Amino acid sequence: MENCLFCKIIEGSIPSNKVYEDEKFLVFHDIQPAAPVHVLIIPKKHIASANELQGGDFALIGDLHKVAQQVAQQLGVADTGYRLINNCGVDSGQAVHHIHYHLLGGVKLGALVGISDSHA
Ligand code: 5GP
Ligand code: ZN
Repeated sequence: MENCLFCKIIEGSIPSNKVYEDEKFLVFHDIQPAAPVHVLIIPKKHIASANELQGGDFALIGDLHKVAQQVAQQLGVADTGYRLINNCGVDSGQAVHHIHYHLLGGVKLGALVGISDSHA
């Protein structure tokens, strides 16, 4: 997909700090970490957001959870806990339109659901 930041990271034309890669997924550190552990888990297939998931994509997202489990172990937060976040659409603040899941951990995370002032 042209002009997609995460597709460019997948193809390697934009560098990233990778923590895991297989034929279907890439995991790399977020450039602006919001927690000691903050990685982005993305399918290599370009899907704009959770709203565009269809057919076999749902099984793919199931597999993404396997990757999350493995990466949490690898990064040492499986036992202490972590949060997986998917932002979808304008009100969520989704900035990159290639579906991705934030995996955050390494610190006691705040309330489960946050509504920032900018959204109030
Ligand atoms: P969103 O707000 O779309 O859910 O999350 C997009 C995330 O991508 C943000 O946390 C942002 O810091 C991260 N990000 C944006 N550009 C880059 C980049 O070039 N490299 C990496 N590693 N992360 C990026
Ligand atoms: Zn893409």
